[in-house]
Amino acid sequence: MRARTDWNEKNMNLKDAHRIRDTVNSGEISAKEWADAALERIDAVDSDLGVFLTVEPESVRRRAEAVDRAVKGKSLPLAGVPVTVKDNISTRHLRTTCGSKILENYIPPYNATAIDLLEKAGAVVVGKANCDEFAMGSSTENSALRVTRNPYDPERVPGGSSGGSAVAVAAAITPVALGSETGGSVRQPASFCSVLGLKPTYGRVSRYGLVAFASSLDCIAPIANSPKDIALLLSVIAGRDDHDATSAPFEVPDYMLELQQSVRGMKLGVPREFFGEGLDPEVQAIIEAGIRNAESLGCEVQEVSLPHTKYAVSDYYIIAPAEASSNLARYDGVKYGYRSAEHDDLIDMYRKSRSRGFGPEVKRRIMLGTYALSSGYYDAYYGRAMKVRTLIKRDYDKAFEKVDALLSPVSPTPAFKIGEKTSDPLAMYLSDIYTVTANLAGIPALSLPCGFTKQGLPVGLQILTKQFQEGTLLRLAEGYMNAFPVSGPPIKY
Ligand code: GLN
Repeated sequence: MRARTDWNEKNMNLKDAHRIRDTVNSGEISAKEWADAALERIDAVDSDLGVFLTVEPESVRRRAEAVDRAVKGKSLPLAGVPVTVKDNISTRHLRTTCGSKILENYIPPYNATAIDLLEKAGAVVVGKANCDEFAMGSSTENSALRVTRNPYDPERVPGGSSGGSAVAVAAAITPVALGSETGGSVRQPASFCSVLGLKPTYGRVSRYGLVAFASSLDCIAPIANSPKDIALLLSVIAGRDDHDATSAPFEVPDYMLELQQSVRGMKLGVPREFFGEGLDPEVQAIIEAGIRNAESLGCEVQEVSLPHTKYAVSDYYIIAPAEASSNLARYDGVKYGYRSAEHDDLIDMYRKSRSRGFGPEVKRRIMLGTYALSSGYYDAYYGRAMKVRTLIKRDYDKAFEKVDALLSPVSPTPAFKIGEKTSDPLAMYLSDIYTVTANLAGIPALSLPCGFTKQGLPVGLQILTKQFQEGTLLRLAEGYMNAFPVSGPPIKY
């Protein structure tokens, strides 16, 4: 990073959204200065890390100046806070590609509700972050547009699909980011990059403007460096939205207040099935140490069972592709997105636009999903998968009769090498084993930094709880991180 004297004088550290917002509300540092600082970080590190697909510096500065004018005389919850947004969340007049060639030139005419809410709260969106194409993947390698690297080891993946958003926060380009979750896409990159990622309860945050992948699973999800900043972001974006009929009509609790409650006496469960075959021994040791740490804070720990976990990956990889095959039917080259210039007739135009516009993983999912939904197979695949989904949900209901929250690994391994799993989709799918159940059950789950391997790779600890109890996760994360802050090797960027 280039040294700037005024940065040093003003301590312009881009890791803490609360501090940034306080300095802007008090007039000590302007939103424009923070926006310039974030843009400078992008200039300094983005060619190495590959986070951003679109940044428009002039409009970022204009937007920051508007915040500086708006903030005079009042204080805004996210005044001047620079935010990175995953490129499958619609931003008005700002390119939204979903990491796909088919939307490479798509500029939405409207904002996602979450973006409107962030902007109303004074946040400044600095750019759109790389992701796996249509959020399908666990490494960001499925992006058709860019390679994103892990700041702890640039030869390794940042995780995915919200890899760009996680790296933006890990490398202190912006203190917070929005990602999305369908099956672990925020928790897993958070774990690989030593930041926090929260998958909210399904319906807690409006999906309006989040480009649909699997509508019964999709959520917009915050990433930050502290539980406090996750709480801040969630308070702003959560709530009922008339544009999304599946958004929940429940009041949004005061997460900041919940986060201050003591964790002493909390009952925690450790699901036996999350510690089986395939779990890297080093990851296991770090997670077990994390569990002992939680115990030392006065939490009661007991083993629990989620017996249907063994079906989770197969279940998810029927339901998610089935819904995707239907959602992605809209990209036909007619109304928007890529259209093949040469074609013989309408059908040929559809075929060429879709076969050239979509990448291999998206095509694989469309085929899997179409098969699972096709006549004669629907009951055997999709219908059955939905029944198994109910069983997975019931496992959690039962566990939460005994405990307040569960602790587990996020991913069976730390960040893997770029290219290591690209030729083996099944190996990639299997790495989602500990994350997809929360999405299938619709419950909230969070990844928090727990430790580092001997090689210096981050490992996240997962906490899961009942629907709409995000406050429980934040309280546990805050108590844990205050007592056991992790420090790893300094990142080079
Ligand atoms: N790895 C999962 C998948 O490829 C997760 C996707 C997501 O959460 N968006 O489908």
